[in-house]
Amino acid sequence: MVSENPENDSSFMGMVGSFEKMINNPFIRSVLKSSTQYCEADGGNRLEVALELYTGKRKHACVKCRFTEKVVSFVMKRAGQTFGITDEKMQKSLQSAYWRKGVATTVKGLALFGVRRPFVPGAPYQIVWNITKACNFNCLHCYENAGRKDPDEATPEMIMQGIEKLARAGVTSIAFSGGEPTLLPNMTDYIRRVSELGMYPAMASNGWVLSNEKIARKYREAGLQFVQISLDGPTPEVHDSFRRVNGAWERAVRAIRNCVNLGMFVEVSTTVTKYNINDVPKMIELSRSLGARWLMAYNFIPTGRGREIVMEDLEPKERFDLLSMLYENTSKGGLELLSTAPQYAMVAQVVETQKNLGKNVIPTHFQNPQYTNPKLQQLADFIGGCGAGRFYMSVEPNGDIYPCVFFPHEEEVKVGNLYRDDFDKLWIKSQLLKDLRNKDDLEGACGTCSYKYTCGGCRARAYNYYHDIKAPDPGCIYNEKEWNKLKMELMVKNGAEELPSGGLSIKLQ
Ligand code: SF4
Ligand code: SF4
Repeated sequence: MVSENPENDSSFMGMVGSFEKMINNPFIRSVLKSSTQYCEADGGNRLEVALELYTGKRKHACVKCRFTEKVVSFVMKRAGQTFGITDEKMQKSLQSAYWRKGVATTVKGLALFGVRRPFVPGAPYQIVWNITKACNFNCLHCYENAGRKDPDEATPEMIMQGIEKLARAGVTSIAFSGGEPTLLPNMTDYIRRVSELGMYPAMASNGWVLSNEKIARKYREAGLQFVQISLDGPTPEVHDSFRRVNGAWERAVRAIRNCVNLGMFVEVSTTVTKYNINDVPKMIELSRSLGARWLMAYNFIPTGRGREIVMEDLEPKERFDLLSMLYENTSKGGLELLSTAPQYAMVAQVVETQKNLGKNVIPTHFQNPQYTNPKLQQLADFIGGCGAGRFYMSVEPNGDIYPCVFFPHEEEVKVGNLYRDDFDKLWIKSQLLKDLRNKDDLEGACGTCSYKYTCGGCRARAYNYYHDIKAPDPGCIYNEKEWNKLKMELMVKNGAEELPSGGLSIKLQ
């Protein structure tokens, strides 16, 4: 990202430089490194204990944790000076357990990987955990190819151990997904445990079970904070035919209402394809009228059953126009319009430049938060872009770990296993993760693009289309040539079948 004002850039980079110097100080680095371990005496990650002391949440701790607190509070003050955050603000935000966990993971990342672009935290901020393959739906685009429970799915005891392991590693949030997580009898126990361990519990659901108010309430009482309900269209006709279950739309809408009324943060998620792209404006109206806080436009990725409908994928220009429309209409009536397409960061900057909407945004993957502190915008290069294997990872029902839910279940892109492997070791040593975190050797337009740090293309799309994590993301207008070539190749190689939308269904080889 290039700042309009080079002076700002140099002074900011200068400050980052001096912050980096401080982090690289051998004494500070070695204290921070040794504080990344779990303290059995205080029952917590040493960095988290130090932050509890720093914010006054805890009065007593062992000598080592108290010593860590001295160094951590010094680092926090210097970070505050660098990014223009007052000590008071810092202390205030750290009153929340989730924020403390997130900050501890950030400091752990500084200790392990230093100040680097893009930044790598000490553990993924979020794990999306496909807890079961069992599902009561049969959606056309399901990335998980869900339906029946797999015979090798983890037992409830293993799942509880897995949750502990992720909390010890410093994971900030666990988002349960599937299959359909509400079909698991112990699901509320898992949510409660995540919450008890100071992590932010989230869940993605098709809404069928949560349409029952009593059940939705049980989830709320267990500590569920954030729920994502899938809705692929503004009417039952569109949604039910995509989900292949009659009544799916009615139940999902009821579930959204229940969760909103129970005070949960509700995100409506819509996978946008040629099939429903024209319905997006109506989806915005519907989500707003239901009281949802976010509408997430999921990027279609041809994986799982989605491979069967690859020709329903948007053209790069369609994606660009969709993201521009979302950006221009976001934050109206209390609804944020977001996308999992990392190009959203690029589109936000292009639209701002062309139309000068006056929104000061930090363009990042998933969200473009507005800011009032200009120093924060410079952070985008450090935090933005595809978060696979960097800000988040996914876990399968048998514990297999992948960089993102949209990677196919192939050995080549498997990171390891939650139950069999040392999680920290995987996070630090995996060559696959190191490769994904490197934005300097991307191919095609992504490699030379000035947005590669704030976007970098969706690595799952690149892999699913080219079997290469470094390939260009063919969903971007800057890679349109690749997209057209790919489309032709696919059409020539494969037989075609007509889809309800008038598009062609072509199976990827
Ligand atoms: S070329 Fe690649 S990095 Fe640049 S905006 Fe497009 S997808 Fe993102
Ligand atoms: S691969 Fe990256 S951009 Fe694509 S969905 Fe996963 S995290 Fe997002």
